[in-house]
Amino acid sequence: MAEFVIAGGGIGGLAAALSIARQGHRVEVLERNDTFAELGAGIQLAPNAFHALDRLGVGARVRAAAVQIDALRLLDARSGDSLATLPLGPEYRRRFGNPYAVVHRGDLYAPLLEACREHEGIVLRAGVAVAGYEHTPSGVRVLPVSGMPVEADGLIGADGIRSVVRTQLVGDGPPRVSGHTIHRAVVPMDHVPPALRFDSVCLWAGPGWHFVHYPITSGRKLNLAITRDDGARVAVSAVPTDREQVLAGFPDLHDTARRLLALGRGWRTWVLCDRPAVATWTDGRVVLTGDAAHPMLQYAAQGACMALEDAVLLGDLLDRPSPGIAEQFAAFNAERRDRTARAQEAALWMGRNLYHPQGDEAEARDKILAGLSPGDLMDAVSWLHAHRC
Ligand SMILES: Cc1cc2nc3c(=O)[nH]c(=O)nc-3n(C[C@H](O)[C@H](O)[C@H](O)COP(=O)(O)OP(=O)(O)OC[C@H]3O[C@@H](n4cnc5c(N)ncnc54)[C@H](O)[C@@H]3O)c2cc1C
Repeated sequence: MAEFVIAGGGIGGLAAALSIARQGHRVEVLERNDTFAELGAGIQLAPNAFHALDRLGVGARVRAAAVQIDALRLLDARSGDSLATLPLGPEYRRRFGNPYAVVHRGDLYAPLLEACREHEGIVLRAGVAVAGYEHTPSGVRVLPVSGMPVEADGLIGADGIRSVVRTQLVGDGPPRVSGHTIHRAVVPMDHVPPALRFDSVCLWAGPGWHFVHYPITSGRKLNLAITRDDGARVAVSAVPTDREQVLAGFPDLHDTARRLLALGRGWRTWVLCDRPAVATWTDGRVVLTGDAAHPMLQYAAQGACMALEDAVLLGDLLDRPSPGIAEQFAAFNAERRDRTARAQEAALWMGRNLYHPQGDEAEARDKILAGLSPGDLMDAVSWLHAHRC
């Protein structure tokens, strides 16, 4: 039995804690915030995430509040024409072995947190910010911003896109500002006219912008997110934004979508960031996971799914015979590097080529999509959605 510290108690950190503790190790999770909580709105979970959640023993609890949607729909944001539909019904579920579902982030986080609290091998410490680490002859010393260092056999940096563990380990500076601004809001479904309630993820693609909406919280709420590639240079997070400002930014949105957008209240704005893929996320007995290792834009809806896959593999590898933890972490890095880099690239590609093209490029996209059958679309996402860890 070994002792691990995890820096960061987000989705990735808690999932890693569960996975490692389930192999009989002890885990201490250090979270800089005063409480363990996940803010924000909706999140899409593909079958690869449900495979991972099942392996962590929380799949049933997450499914209980998830909305299993019937399709991913891409529409022209101005004309309302359908550009492509990926059906997510029985055939998709049979092929991928699990549903594609949408949840409120809290409905993913709460089961992970509950399972961590129930596990006697896991200690959760809120209000402890990690500042860095030192190698010791027998392990690693985790240095908090204040308070006593924590000795461990291994450190997992799950501290997100601005990870301090990554700063020390990779040293590649602040994340890349994408230049994409996203406004998000959540609406009670009671406020949505029945004719505007869709059991799908609907994505309205405009020139240099797109609008996404889907139901969450067992269908009791509607998640709205509208993004523009506006070249914003400064990262911002959850800034309250006037409804009128959001509406005025998208004057040529199709009427159906515009009526949905107009329902939004309490809008908040983010300018999104990512990082180019790097090959190495280990330093002896220190390793990165989730957004600390491979942050990506949201366009493939896979960042959290990848963090869950990471967590399962990390636990599995710590159970395999190996000369030591540094070697197990290196094996984890080697097994995850190509897949996560491909997902980072796919997210960029989808934003550029599917959601935001303009003029001739948009026409070319429409022609290609018109020639694809539902089976072709399923084949296209298979490498992402079919993965079983
Ligand atoms: C707009 C948007 C939409 C998205 N939609 C989807 C989607 O549909 N599907 C999907 O799979 N993914 C989606 N993602 C990506 C997903 O949100 C992330 O990939 C996922 O949350 C990463 O989890 P994480 O635990 O690695 O990092 P984080 O969620 O960032 O958690 C890091 C944790 O570490 C803590 N922390 C930070 N620094 C320290 C420190 N020094 N010491 C201690 N604790 C620290 C933080 O407080 C936080 O709790 C989306 C992202 C965005 C921005």
